[in-house]
Parts: sequence; C-alpha cells; structure tokens
Amino acid sequence: MREFTCIICPRGCSLKVDDNGNVTGNFCPRGKEYAINEITNPKRTITTTIRVKNRKDTVVSVKTTCAVPKGMIFQVMEVINTLSVDAPTRIGDVVYNNILDTGADVVITKNID
Ligand code: SF4
Repeated sequence: MREFTCIICPRGCSLKVDDNGNVTGNFCPRGKEYAINEITNPKRTITTTIRVKNRKDTVVSVKTTCAVPKGMIFQVMEVINTLSVDAPTRIGDVVYNNILDTGADVVITKNID
C-alpha cells in the first residue's frame, strides 16, 4: 500500500494505492490517473526563473509546458540554468524547445516591458 496526496488540484485528496494498483481516496478520475502515474512514471512540471540580460538584477519566471520525468529534473534544471533572455518578455514566449527530448518546451510566465 502506498499513500500520498494528490497535487493535481487544491482539494488535495489523500490517495491510497494497493498492491494490485487499485486507487482509493480520489474524488475525481484525475486523481486515479495521477496515482498510477506517480507509481509507474512520476513526473513534475518545473517552474523556475532565468536571467534577463538587458535588465540589471532581473529575472523572469519560466515553466515547462508539461511535466518531465522526476528522474530528469536535475538535468533539465542544468539546461534551464544556462538560459537567459532579453526584455521585453511575453507570457508564452518559448525560450527552449523540447528540452532533453522530454517533449516539454520552456516558456515565459511573466510579462516584462
Ligand atoms: S483526486 Fe481530483 S479532486 Fe482530489 S485532489 Fe486530485 S484532482 Fe483534485
């Protein structure tokens, strides 16, 4: 039996997965999908910041467009830490495509004029 909290929405259901893969505690089907993925191939969306080159002491927030395998987070962060942009920035601007072949792009999540 494994127990964890669903992080898909703020309700935060307490999920249990038994040895046969049966999921309980989920209020909706997304929790079941999350629980099974968490056991078989855990993934996380990465949110962080990158440097804005043409603005002193300024960073802009970015995120991956989809979750990446948990085991690759360190390598993905190594790539993201090398990235920088020039202002102005716009939400949704892609700063890196298909990072480490995960299928996730890195996009801007804040407008800077
Ligand atoms: S199981 Fe559904 S309702 Fe519960 S936290 Fe997950 S997504 Fe939200």
